[in-house]
Amino acid sequence: MLVLDGKSASAAIRSRLKQEIADLLPEAGRPPGLAVILVGDDPASGVYVRNKEKNCREIGISSQTYRLSEGISDNILESLIRDLNADDKVDGILLQLPLPGNLDSQKFLQLISPHKDVDGFHPESVGKLTLGLPGFRSCTPAGIIALLKHYHLDVSGKDCVIIGRSNIVGKPLALMLLAGNATVTICHSKTSDLKGHVQRADFVFAAVGRPGFVKKDMVKPGVVVVDVGINRTDNGLIGDCDYVGIKSMAMAMTPVPGGVGPMTIAMLLENTVSSWKKRLAAG
Ligand code: NAD
Repeated sequence: MLVLDGKSASAAIRSRLKQEIADLLPEAGRPPGLAVILVGDDPASGVYVRNKEKNCREIGISSQTYRLSEGISDNILESLIRDLNADDKVDGILLQLPLPGNLDSQKFLQLISPHKDVDGFHPESVGKLTLGLPGFRSCTPAGIIALLKHYHLDVSGKDCVIIGRSNIVGKPLALMLLAGNATVTICHSKTSDLKGHVQRADFVFAAVGRPGFVKKDMVKPGVVVVDVGINRTDNGLIGDCDYVGIKSMAMAMTPVPGGVGPMTIAMLLENTVSSWKKRLAAG
């Protein structure tokens, strides 16, 4: 079985971006800038943010994290986003989700300038994805597409089954696969006969959030499995698929960790650099 190694695929992207930044820096006069907003002290979000900061540093993106306490008012977060929208040194703004319960994430995502929406969650970015227009693509599904491309796995004409219909993974992934001419089925918690759908899939994408949810007897031989799940358990990080069981059936599969996760970060860097380049070109 081919292991779809997100670490090495993302390393290739990061080294290309590092070179692009070094080449353009003299003309640009400033590095690409990413602003990360972290509200509250969710431990998993803290880990993700530190990881993003480290990745930015390594390739020459200037990243600044704004840490706000859980009880802040809407006004404070709103004015921070407006300041960052107006800041010429900021090319991308990332609002780390989930926000604490008192804050409405949709409201704040919509305040981010669509020109700095490097997470691809603004309605304008989602609309552009739907219409097939250029724009920021959300990082996890874009990372999955880049990973498949890295391994020359073409979804054109193939049956692709996605388990999960979230706004950040399932729905945008469906649109990206459709743009690649796949036949796409989205399954979710109300799907009857999930196994029947998954069993006829050439490609399975699991974004459920349940450890080991997809089992060997649910997939057909020769399937390509992309496991998006990140589940923190007493045995460490576990994906949504039973890797050990499925690997004897699959033609290719992503590991967890080291599959989709590193690709998500690579796409965030890619979006930030492309926003910086657009701003440079605009003068
Ligand atoms: P979510 O909770 O928003 O959505 C889960 C989806 O699973 C829902 O659409 C739901 O309908 C579906 N579902 C739940 N139970 C089901 C069942 N029994 N049968 C069929 N479908 C069922 O989750 P999300 O934000 O899309 O994240 C999914 C997983 O992916 C999580 O483990 C998350 O941590 C992980 N994730 C990883 C990355 C990454 O970079 N690797 C990025 C985002 C999310």
